[in-house]
Amino acid sequence: MNKFEILKKYFGYDQFREGQEILIDAVLRGRDALGIMPTGAGKSLCYQVPALLFPGITLVISPLISLMKDQVQALNQAGVHAAYINSSLSENQIAKALALAAAGQYKIIYVAPERLETPGFLHFARQADISMVTVDEAHCISQWGQDFRPSYLKIVQFIRILPTRPVVSAFTATATERVREDILCVLGLKEPEILVTGFDRKNLYFVVETPRKKEAYVKDYVAAHPGDSGIIYCATRKNVDMLYQHLAAEGVPVTRYHAGLGNEERRRNQEDFIYDRAPVMVATNAFGMGIDKSNVRYVLHYNMPQSLENYYQEAGRAGRDGEPAECILLYSPQDVMVNRFLLESKEQNPEFTWEELAAIRERDEERLRVMNYYCMTKNCLRTYILQYFGEKGNGDCGNCGNCRKESVERDVTEAAGHIIDCILEMHGRYGINVVAGTLAGDNRAKLREYGVSGYPSYGSLKEMSEAGIKEIINQMLMEGLLAVTPDKYALLKVTKAAEEVRNSTRAVLLKEWKKEPETAEPAKKGKSAAGKRRSDILNSRGLELFERLRSLRTEIARQQNMPPYIIFSDKTLVDMCVKAPRNKAEMLQVTGVGENKFARYGERFLEEIASFTGGVPGKFYFGEWC
Ligand code: ADP
Ligand code: ZN
Repeated sequence: MNKFEILKKYFGYDQFREGQEILIDAVLRGRDALGIMPTGAGKSLCYQVPALLFPGITLVISPLISLMKDQVQALNQAGVHAAYINSSLSENQIAKALALAAAGQYKIIYVAPERLETPGFLHFARQADISMVTVDEAHCISQWGQDFRPSYLKIVQFIRILPTRPVVSAFTATATERVREDILCVLGLKEPEILVTGFDRKNLYFVVETPRKKEAYVKDYVAAHPGDSGIIYCATRKNVDMLYQHLAAEGVPVTRYHAGLGNEERRRNQEDFIYDRAPVMVATNAFGMGIDKSNVRYVLHYNMPQSLENYYQEAGRAGRDGEPAECILLYSPQDVMVNRFLLESKEQNPEFTWEELAAIRERDEERLRVMNYYCMTKNCLRTYILQYFGEKGNGDCGNCGNCRKESVERDVTEAAGHIIDCILEMHGRYGINVVAGTLAGDNRAKLREYGVSGYPSYGSLKEMSEAGIKEIINQMLMEGLLAVTPDKYALLKVTKAAEEVRNSTRAVLLKEWKKEPETAEPAKKGKSAAGKRRSDILNSRGLELFERLRSLRTEIARQQNMPPYIIFSDKTLVDMCVKAPRNKAEMLQVTGVGENKFARYGERFLEEIASFTGGVPGKFYFGEWC
């Protein structure tokens, strides 16, 4: 078989995605490889396809026990012999698995890095025919990253003691320049093929909303997306419990997760979510590590997270299957205060020196500020995210809340000039509240106390509201015309770039929405982008069929005690509705249906489709045939 036949037979796909083929070809030629691709890009296939073509075993080193189980389940479903070896198994089970592995039973074996040192595993590895070692979540090897795992450093030694050096491939979704160098260097990759694809997740729709009643917003949103799986992140346990109870009282199949719950309850709730028994999860950021659920259709943030890094990681848990999904952040200005409080009460590592702690604190403040600007910007949200992570966005993505709203631009250069003057007069001693109050000519006690009425710019923008002045200041901060001190006082400073405004070579423009943006009542706005997309493709009959197939999938998943998305992804179900296959040959044309999946489930899905369509061809279930 060649790689295309493997792709079709085991995974049910017709084409490789961007980047996959380059990496697969490289390792098949015996070259090392490093793949840096965003979540959902399809990293797993990059080592699973070659694993099936290599003569020997592929060892996959992965840090997360739950992910291993998931991957192995999915592979076995696809008809690939795979196993995992980690601390969730008993010694007895491990011995058994190793014996089977030594006998050549498995093409792919997942192991935790700690395992590489144990005598039993070493004994096996020295005698086995290992074609490739794959390091998943390779950023764990770097001390610069957030998820450093000391046991990852053992991988190199392990590879060295093997009788013949296998191909080494490494994959990660998160890698700054520094982390990337660590991976290359520490892992000792030899002239590797390096592939970096963009971090953009095109299927995710980003939007920031500022509803007056967040709770009502969430209720309406969840009610408008029945049957869909989603995660709602809250900043505090208290919020999780509150929201969980409200949704449960509405009859939503919801569960929750936070560090205050016992181990057993957390495990059970997580499983209820993964198995779609409770497709809606309300959680703190403690939830999500190692969750590979592909059919999450929305991630709502009830509060603003502490950094854009956190936000993109959490929001990125939506839409791993490549189908449209929504990432909605519910913003209120108090969120900044809540986060600052959380940062201040964060436990500090006692090993750090005072200077190090101060540096961490500054970095945290800076991250919080970047996050806050995300919530305030009126420019393309996707571009904002991509630029922050060092990529170019093209300005207008057309698939974010801001790109979809109509805006007009107002020239505020003159006001910006007054703002600059004011800050200079004050010698940068004050923050945004005092500056805005002074310019507006406010007479509150605190300002009197500072004696601000003595500054020449006192009241120079008195025709504007303080909120309006703050908006311009924020715009200037985002454009780098102003800066703030990196501490909690956030004193305003004028940057060098502001010269251009003062000598009239640069204009400051403020975007405004044409109409008041609708925020409070999402349900009335009709279907969400993700919902629209499914219904863009399918008409009402098609959507009915989709629901039937989704129920069948749930039923089979329960019988087999397996997560539904491992049986078929949402994307596959939509494609089934579009193609409405009538026989095996037609069913095998559906994306994600390979020979083995067909053998397991094909007939049941064909029957369900036939009973619904009565044999009418697929074109009646999408497009204009309503
Ligand atoms: P990652 O590990 O990069 O986050 P996965 O390997 O989990 O991503 O893949 C994400 C999804 O994309 C999975 O459902 C996978 O089956 C699907 N996928 C991967 N490669 C292809 C392909 N060539 N064609 C269609 N779907 C694919
Ligand atoms: Zn956009």
